[in-house]
Amino acid sequence: MKLQLLSFIGMAGAFQMHAVDKNKPDTERPNIIFILSDDHAKPAISAYGGIYAKLAPTPNIDRIANEGALFNNMLCTNSISGPSRACLITGKYSTTHGLYLNEGGIVFDNTQPTTATILHSNGYATALFGKWHLMSKPVGFDYYKIHAASNQQGMYWDPLFETNGKVEKEKGYESNLSTNAALKWLDEGRDKAKPFMLMLHYKAPHRTWESDSIYQHLWDDMDFPYPATFNDDYKTREKTAGQSMATIENHLSRNDLKQVPPPGLTGKDRADWLEYGGSGKNQFWTPDPNLKGQELKNWKFQQYIKNYLRCVRSVDDNVGSLLNYLKKNGLDKNTIIVYMGDQGFFLGEHGLYDKRWMYEESFQMPCLIRFPKNIQAGIKINLLAANIDIAPTLLDYAGVKIPADMQGKSLKPLLEQNEKVEKKWRKSVYYQYYEYPKWHNVLPHYGLRTNRYKLMHFYYTEDMWEFYDLQKDPNEMTNQYNNPEYQKIIAGLKKELYKQQKNIGDDMHLEERRKMTEKYSLQYEH
Ligand code: CA
Repeated sequence: MKLQLLSFIGMAGAFQMHAVDKNKPDTERPNIIFILSDDHAKPAISAYGGIYAKLAPTPNIDRIANEGALFNNMLCTNSISGPSRACLITGKYSTTHGLYLNEGGIVFDNTQPTTATILHSNGYATALFGKWHLMSKPVGFDYYKIHAASNQQGMYWDPLFETNGKVEKEKGYESNLSTNAALKWLDEGRDKAKPFMLMLHYKAPHRTWESDSIYQHLWDDMDFPYPATFNDDYKTREKTAGQSMATIENHLSRNDLKQVPPPGLTGKDRADWLEYGGSGKNQFWTPDPNLKGQELKNWKFQQYIKNYLRCVRSVDDNVGSLLNYLKKNGLDKNTIIVYMGDQGFFLGEHGLYDKRWMYEESFQMPCLIRFPKNIQAGIKINLLAANIDIAPTLLDYAGVKIPADMQGKSLKPLLEQNEKVEKKWRKSVYYQYYEYPKWHNVLPHYGLRTNRYKLMHFYYTEDMWEFYDLQKDPNEMTNQYNNPEYQKIIAGLKKELYKQQKNIGDDMHLEERRKMTEKYSLQYEH
């Protein structure tokens, strides 16, 4: 186990200065804008199609895909906020960068190299706005303005921001405030003699799904369609997906469903009233005695999906403002724009919300990249990419040497349709997840996904495997692990899985792996 053995070989890259004539502005190297939203799933971006695309389109985010590339298989190697964000900036798996959990007091070791520290020491002006959520201070930025409240989780309304170390409350709605601050930095804050890297990280559309007041009643008079797997009974996955505490039916609170507390309730009474229904204990609460069973579940889904998509609407508006600013100021041609979610998210598929699982809905991240100089408009990339590839890709485009200890690969050859590299590209992606039981009771697991198959191992309380043929069963409804027809394929996948664990230094004994969860485990109260 090499968890805390952070290699500093990568720092060599950080100090390899790009040859820049100090008397001339450096306008040749590309600018980089990395936009990250929190829990934004592919079906909530209309460029990806899906059942919400026509009713809740995202025309501005779609522009990035229409004028650039769309990834169909950008996979999250640990589907939870802090760990995935750290993968994005270090180019390393979560057991290598060390932030393998979101909760329990573990923080990101900010002395290690990241895209920001490396680009900054190679002459880039750098800034960060919005949600950082690595639980330690941002390093490598000339300017930062991040959410400070609730362990950097942040708030939608009147948020508490930390600006270069100074904490202040600001009036307004998060997505608008972060965008305005980013535009101000682009306009008057940055050193215009240098190329820039701007990271704009929205809190939206994360739980508690609070929309801007202008969208509070958007879609009030209509219903959204239900995903095909909305009423999944978890047959053959009873002890895994079936034990989730993130079901639409039983784990959404009054607060999640935007119910208004009775007047006069204050303090703990008010908080208890709002949290009611979220734990699974009071799942039969209803805002209307006539609403029960399937109808009640459907009603909860409609509240959930509308609030989530209302938050997305504001993100899309703000991405539009940013794109318009770049065009108006002649920055649209030499700026790489990346749009991603920090992992996938369940939007009612399998009856769930939230993330964490290696199942497709949370494993798949949206990823759109626009850079007209080098990337052909409208291309779709189906090869297997991962969050650990983003850091090497950005360094590659900036002309900076990629540190040898980064575990991801530059996606530049895929973006530029280099057939030679495409032919030799990776055939599988490794996954790891550790946080249990809070939140949502998702058993720790690891696994491997190829273009066609997925193998998952749940090792924490019992020893359970799942296997899916994604070509025959894209919704992962039937665990085929014991099907004799697949035994040869499963044996091959296991071999590859163990090989990859060894290669990345994650080949520990199951007992040691269980201890990693126990060390920071947050328990539910009984
Ligand atoms: Ca997230």
